[in-house]
Amino acid sequence: MENKFILPALFLALFLSSCARAPIRNIPTAHNPDLPQALPGNAAITPEIFRQDVVHEVGPGETVWRISKMYDVPMEDIVNINNLNDATQLEKGQRLIVPKAAPMRSIVPLYPNDMWKYIIIHHSATDVGNALSFDYMHSHKRLWKGLGYHFVIDNGTGETRDGHIEVSPRWLHQEYGAHCKADEMNYRGIGICLVGNFNDEKVLEEQMDSLAYLVDILKKYYNIPDSHILGHGQVNGAKTDCPGKNFPWTEFRSRLRR
Ligand SMILES: [Zn+2]
Repeated sequence: MENKFILPALFLALFLSSCARAPIRNIPTAHNPDLPQALPGNAAITPEIFRQDVVHEVGPGETVWRISKMYDVPMEDIVNINNLNDATQLEKGQRLIVPKAAPMRSIVPLYPNDMWKYIIIHHSATDVGNALSFDYMHSHKRLWKGLGYHFVIDNGTGETRDGHIEVSPRWLHQEYGAHCKADEMNYRGIGICLVGNFNDEKVLEEQMDSLAYLVDILKKYYNIPDSHILGHGQVNGAKTDCPGKNFPWTEFRSRLRR
């Protein structure tokens, strides 16, 4: 379940199909999945949008609330069709039917917090993956407390679509990261990982769109200057080529809003 005690001041939805931006909307009260009356209204999806039943693999930190927002489907419909006795207890990797789902979109919550002074960009240095697989790797191979990043931007290889922004439990709980030890960035930097190995491949256009969108809203909300938006390898003391030699810095920086 998402942390009841940290309320997002805002959440933003990114429609990947059109790249249109949903308006910023205030959350009226808690978005506790146990209190459906406290949910914000549906985002502005046009009624004629194509809908279909889909199977969703539950990622780390995802709740019925979050999944209902991602597909614009009422929580009750997801609970009923999957016979969920306890909608607050989803298992990572569990597969849920989402009936009459709109195209998947990214839901980005923002929380007041003066801890975040930097944004650090990474690549996964793997061809495939998503938040679920990195969470497993970080928990079981590196013995960290779960997924080390705050956001993962997918490349369509892990049951999500190209450019989908996955929100890590560390972000939902506003916890420090495990993505960049150098210069204490774990404690002051928001860690964003793009799936891919950008020493070999190029960043997908959809990933670039999502990265520019995400960095723009984070830098605006947390008042982070462009000089504090760095690749992992650009951090003082870091010895890595992350996010890869093909990462298009000129294009990326030109796309950020002034
Ligand atoms: Zn890195």
